[in-house]
This record gives sequence, structure tokens and C-alpha cells, in this order.
Amino acid sequence: MKSNSDILVGRFTGQSRIKQGNRRFRLTPDPIDRAERSNHALLQEAVELEGSFGIVVGEIAGNTMFEARVEEVVPPILSGVLDKLLREDAIDAEALPSKVERSIRSLTGRSVELASRGRPICALVVGHRQSAKGARSADGSVVEFEFNTELAREVKKRVTKARVQIVFRNNTTDGLRKLPAKVNALGPHFILSLHCNAFDNKANGTETLYFHTSENGKKLARIVQKRLLNALELKNRGIRDKKDAERGAHLLKYTRAPCVICEPFFIDNDDDLGTALRRKKRLAAAYAKAIDDAAVTLAN
Ligand SMILES: [Zn+2]
Repeated sequence: MKSNSDILVGRFTGQSRIKQGNRRFRLTPDPIDRAERSNHALLQEAVELEGSFGIVVGEIAGNTMFEARVEEVVPPILSGVLDKLLREDAIDAEALPSKVERSIRSLTGRSVELASRGRPICALVVGHRQSAKGARSADGSVVEFEFNTELAREVKKRVTKARVQIVFRNNTTDGLRKLPAKVNALGPHFILSLHCNAFDNKANGTETLYFHTSENGKKLARIVQKRLLNALELKNRGIRDKKDAERGAHLLKYTRAPCVICEPFFIDNDDDLGTALRRKKRLAAAYAKAIDDAAVTLAN
């Protein structure tokens, strides 16, 4: 049992930082053995949670928490209440973390870090980015980036055998170019990138893409494709190997771990889209099962 795992309880203050009592910590998913480097990857989840309270687990060195992962998030309204109580000194900020830690330990009967340490890491990449959201439905009401952002959170909640790290492209024109390095920095055991297909409003079905030289990528593609087909019961377009120059191959080619691009349905085909929307929970569950399957099959 490792005893050097740390816990922080506080408010996310933006830019991947959390404020606990009077101290502010930087949060990074980077491993602690890269502590000497200065530009650590941001913990994307923490960036998005700015303003909320939460519990983060990892390893603290100086003012940085390495291998940081968000364990719990306090809902917005309750975060506001907590913030008010802390500002009014109605709660002892310094005593809060150890109380929370003790509560977690007494509830689970073991230290916090054991809950997920040792589980393989799955990078769950949301395709496209805030200012370039990818494909749209025929009527324009459903957008790929938004659909998959919400879906990723649903998937993460359901996974039990892996630690899921949701990854977004930087919202800049070089976001795609920089994405593989961003993903590699997490040290994932395998990678799923969430997309929706689009073509001519008529093409339909489910496909999963992998890099042509990657045996484990192919294995992962089979696992994912099977679960997606099961959930949506759309046409099976099969698993497809992508080569160097092809669209979508960038992430597949430059990531170190087995990686697949998931295209469960055509967003611009109203029949496909209708099915995906009706079965969104099943789709999330299918991705989660695929990740659990992969955690068992690929991580060893
Ligand atoms: Zn896409």
C-alpha cells in the first residue's frame, strides 16, 4: 500500500489550480517523475470546473499536485454555500481536508488513493474543439463537439475498470497538431476519440478506425465496434485501418498507446441521429463497457 498519496479539498480557481485554505496548488496529470520539467500539462477537468469545490487526489510536490485526478465535484449551488461559509469563517478551512479525508476513509474502509490507483488510464478524447465543432445534423440542431462533450462525461461516470481522463483539443488552429503530445503526456494505456460521422445525409452506420500498423489498435477497434453495434443496432461498416495521409490519422499515428476513432453513427443522417439521440444512455454505457473490456484486455 502506497501511503504518499495526497488529497486536496478546495475551490477550483481556473487554469488548473485549486485553492485549499490559504494555499493554491497547480494540478497536473503528469507523473511525479517529471517533476523537474516546468511546463506541466493542465488538468483539463479542473480547468472546466472553475468556481466549483471538489476533491482532488494525487501526489504533492511543492505547490504542484502530480498525477492529479478529480475524485468528487461539489454541485454549483452547494459550492456557493460552501464558499460563503468559508468566507464567513463559519467553517475552518484548514480542518476541512483532513475531515473529508477521514470521512472517505471511514466510509470506504481504505485510503482514498486505493480507489483507482493501479487501474489503467483511458484517454477519452472529445473530437474537434470549441470554435470548430465538427459535423452537424441536417437541421443544424445537433453539433458533434457538443454531443460528444456531454457523452464523454456520461461515459466516464459509468467506467469501473479504468481511470478515464477526458481530453479536449486546445481551442486554437494548431489544436489538432498539438493533440497527440497532450494525450501522450497523460501516459494512457489506450485512447478513444469520440466523433460522429457525416457525409451526404444518406450514408449510415457504425465504424471504428485504427492505425494500420497497430495490432493493439485493431484489437481495441474490434472491442469498441462490437459494443457500439450492440447499443445502436445500426449498419455495421466495420473496423477500418487508416494510413499516414488520411484524415483522422494524425491522432492515430502520433499517439503512443493504442488509439481508435469512434464513429458510432452519421450525425447528418436523420435516421441514424434519431437512434443515437433515443439511445444516448445506451451509447454511453456501450462506450463504458468497451473501455472496461479494453482495460482488462489491453492493459496487461
Ligand atoms: Zn469528427
